Amino acid sequence: MSSRRLILATQNRHKVAEIRRLLADTGIDVTHLGELDEVPELTETGETFAENAREKACAVARATGELALADDSGLMVDALGGEPGVRSARYAGEGATDAELIAKLLRELEGVQWCERTARFVCALSLCGPEGEIRSWEGVVEGVITTEPRGESGFGYDPVFYYPPAECTFAQMSTAAKNEVSHRGRALQAFRADLDDILDGRAS
Ligand code: IMP
Repeated sequence: MSSRRLILATQNRHKVAEIRRLLADTGIDVTHLGELDEVPELTETGETFAENAREKACAVARATGELALADDSGLMVDALGGEPGVRSARYAGEGATDAELIAKLLRELEGVQWCERTARFVCALSLCGPEGEIRSWEGVVEGVITTEPRGESGFGYDPVFYYPPAECTFAQMSTAAKNEVSHRGRALQAFRADLDDILDGRAS
């Protein structure tokens, strides 16, 4: 896996911005699908975040012949048996807006007490090389779902994800503060710990 460039297997501009920021000091040239002339079609047929991340990374590595990094992530709410989970982006139907996703989640949790609104964000990262070699990492952050949206920054479910140590939602935190503790930030920290091996091509 010897390379200083990697392709992010996502078109989600929020994920791209967070990941680029988290890898800014690594010297890696981070390109994303929106910057390629031909974009392979990405499917998510897995039942876990890890399966979906592997599927997306491998599809992009195969199509481009380059190192590809995929993030599959979402929200798991205890009172909903782990939903929306891998369906987080499509929880309110294909192409739903963030506002529609949040409205659906809050409807499903109507009447649920604060102490039972526990949830976690999960991020699975997979890196796939041109020969099909794969490595994976995961990050998790625990929180509580609020009864109404608070804050303007971030994306997705951030306005309803209350992070107890900061006493506010992810959407009330700066990107830098969110990245320090978020599921994606934690998964990328684990990825970074293996980076020297990856860039030297020492591990597969
Ligand atoms: P996917 O990984 O492209 O399947 O989409 C994951 C979905 O989970 C996103 O569209 C968001 O709705 C949600 N999600 C993932 N990470 C975050 C986050 O950091 N903040 C808020 N919502 C997130």
